[in-house]
Amino acid sequence: MRILLTNDDGINAPGLAALERIAHKLADEVWVVAPETDQSGKSHSLTLSDPLRLRSLGDRRFAVHGTPTDCVIMGIRHLMPELPDLVLSGVNRGQNVADDIGYSGTVAGAMEGTLLGIRSFALSQSFSAETRHDPKFVTAEAHAPDLLTRLLDLSLPPDIVLNINFPDRPPESVEGIEITSQGKRNQAFVDIDERSDGRGLPYYWIAMRRERFEAPRGTDLRAMAEGRISVTPLRLDMTARDLADRLAGHLDLA
Ligand code: MN
Repeated sequence: MRILLTNDDGINAPGLAALERIAHKLADEVWVVAPETDQSGKSHSLTLSDPLRLRSLGDRRFAVHGTPTDCVIMGIRHLMPELPDLVLSGVNRGQNVADDIGYSGTVAGAMEGTLLGIRSFALSQSFSAETRHDPKFVTAEAHAPDLLTRLLDLSLPPDIVLNINFPDRPPESVEGIEITSQGKRNQAFVDIDERSDGRGLPYYWIAMRRERFEAPRGTDLRAMAEGRISVTPLRLDMTARDLADRLAGHLDLA
């Protein structure tokens, strides 16, 4: 088997090192094409107005001055002589659940793999306030090889990404695996933090307000809160088919 790895935290991220160890348990041929710098929150963006600089770091290992999406395209369309059997994106520093999915460069890396016709999974490691400086990548590393091996036995439709999140627990305390749906936080969690610089002029940071609440059962959020590995099948086609008839009726198109 041939696997292409990317992530959104950058070529030097500890989560990418963990993913490399995971991938080497599954395949002999592992390629790494990852961003030079942290691309978290860049979603599915493409670099269109700047050159893509490519830096070779050794055998089948490259850094791209671009996004995870750029990296997957570079790997599949330019670097790899043969198509990969699998694209893995991660292991992200931090969970990618609920509203995170829309912003996630990690999930987007897997989406790009899927768009290019390759089976693709996104992997993320949850952390808490206490573990934010040292997320438990050891948990993803302990559980991913067996989980991925089992998932690879299943054939999936072509427009699916599997979004896999590992809970903020030591490997031995994980409470199993749950197939989940994408959750929704119960309040707008993104905000603007205003600060002032050395001359008293304002500047701003995007800030995340993550307040605890009881997420509904069956969601990725709830699985993380209760210490289970979450596997969410995501579809690239976001059409809300259940609304099509109502819309057509409203516009007198029926
Ligand atoms: Mn990230």
